[in-house]
Amino acid sequence: MLSVADIFKIGIGPSSSHTVGPMLIARRFLADVRKAGKFEQISRVHVELHGSLALTGHGHGTDRAVVLGLAGFEPHTADPDTCDALWNSVLETHHLSLLGEREIRFVPDRAIAFAMDIMPVEHPNGMRLTAHGAGLELLFSAIYFSLGGGFIARVDEFGAAPKPAHAGAIEFPHPFSSGEKLIAIGHRTELSIAEIIAENEDTVRPREETESILDSIWQAMNASVERGLQTEGVLPGGLEVKRRAPEIFQRLDTVGETSANEREALFDWLNVYAMAVNEENAAGGRVVTAPTNGAAGVIPAVIRYYCADQPNAADLIRRFLLTAAAIGFLYKEKASISGAEMGCQGEVGVACSMAAAGLAAVWGGTNEEIEHAAEIAMEHNLGLTCDPVKGLVQVPCIERNAIGAVKAANAARLAIQSTGAHRVSLDQVIETMRQTGLDMNNKYKETSQGGLAVSVVEC
Ligand code: SF4
Repeated sequence: MLSVADIFKIGIGPSSSHTVGPMLIARRFLADVRKAGKFEQISRVHVELHGSLALTGHGHGTDRAVVLGLAGFEPHTADPDTCDALWNSVLETHHLSLLGEREIRFVPDRAIAFAMDIMPVEHPNGMRLTAHGAGLELLFSAIYFSLGGGFIARVDEFGAAPKPAHAGAIEFPHPFSSGEKLIAIGHRTELSIAEIIAENEDTVRPREETESILDSIWQAMNASVERGLQTEGVLPGGLEVKRRAPEIFQRLDTVGETSANEREALFDWLNVYAMAVNEENAAGGRVVTAPTNGAAGVIPAVIRYYCADQPNAADLIRRFLLTAAAIGFLYKEKASISGAEMGCQGEVGVACSMAAAGLAAVWGGTNEEIEHAAEIAMEHNLGLTCDPVKGLVQVPCIERNAIGAVKAANAARLAIQSTGAHRVSLDQVIETMRQTGLDMNNKYKETSQGGLAVSVVEC
């Protein structure tokens, strides 16, 4: 089973599948070459992007992410400014130091191919990396996949259970593979969903360490909210999308939450927090996968509005994150959190479902109400397509996170106010999402070949 640290990963924007994953793959590739005893002989590296990585890789900065990974950068520690400097230097000098150890000639335009005609059968986000020696002899070549949410796999590992961040085969005291089993564990142990996850995490590390991880996840989320609220300007990529969060925030800050517009304040604050994070993500800034980068704004917005200023904020936020993670595990293991496989229902839809569950838990909901909240939130995201204009994680992604945050709060309200019984279970809605994703035309799965991506005429 996965751990909380697998679902919430600190990384840089704009995409967990198209930026974070490829960066990790490039590093992993060089580790594999080294393991094969060939690293010291590399003089050329060639990268071929397949499927969705090729079709929307330009807009998502996948080529830049690959170069950063080859240089040895890691998403959770990479400083966005240093990343820019390294990328610009490679573009200018055509030289790259592999893992900071081995200098090679590297012309990004020639060394990275966007193979739009190749759609891998295993997963739509494929990459082939090849290392050559000085005489252009083949040293090593392998295919890898970016599975969404920063998870990666080499072709021979594909289909295996996602590799957890914690080492070794750990037996959790409360293993579960469905919402039904999770509820049953709660009945048997009288634990809340957050407590069930916390006890599972106790087998990985001491409780204080888990709490410290949860606190740093929230600090990173909150920092992305803050940067997004303060940073003005136009987002990169050529769509000329202006950052809107700072302006809205200044207006709200002046008018105040308890103004005559109190009724609308809920929307305004959730909107501005979510947009702040996703504008930061679109600019290549640091965000937390929740469960992906494209959907990174929903959970921080809901936490910031409902928990962050409460007297017992730290406890509430930990409860929120543990509960949301439980729901995220189910989507990751029973379906997918990749927009290229599921459309946006697998990204913003899942984030909305996780946030609704977290909020229901913070509001004191029972495990059944939490499960219900997660179900309602996904039920009304089913069929949501992924059609980013120009392949950038901007339109519709930024506003979609704002809508997702508001929808999550509403789903939690509906669940808390309900009589308890509901016709559709979380397990059924997850399976429906999976089937809908499989049936969805590829045009609507992070390829930018349909929907808004073709309806919006570029000037
Ligand atoms: S439309 Fe949704 S799934 Fe697609 S890139 Fe945007 S946020 Fe991600």
